[in-house]
Amino acid sequence: MKLKVNKDKCIGCGQCISICSDVFDFDDDNLAKVVTPLVSEDMVEDATTAKESCPTGAIEEE
Ligand code: SF4
Repeated sequence: MKLKVNKDKCIGCGQCISICSDVFDFDDDNLAKVVTPLVSEDMVEDATTAKESCPTGAIEEE
């Protein structure tokens, strides 16, 4: 699983980071960034939950 954050859609709510801080973090503009672009198997479930919880659909799978 490979993820990215669409910065044009992200509103910086922090939801993805609170669900899965191993994969997501804030960038310098207080928007989300993916810190582990290639998500390992043991993080896929949390990362998927974070992706599905994003209110703006900003988290995209590549
Ligand atoms: S949940 Fe979506 S809108 Fe909120 S910080 Fe994460 S990527 Fe941005």
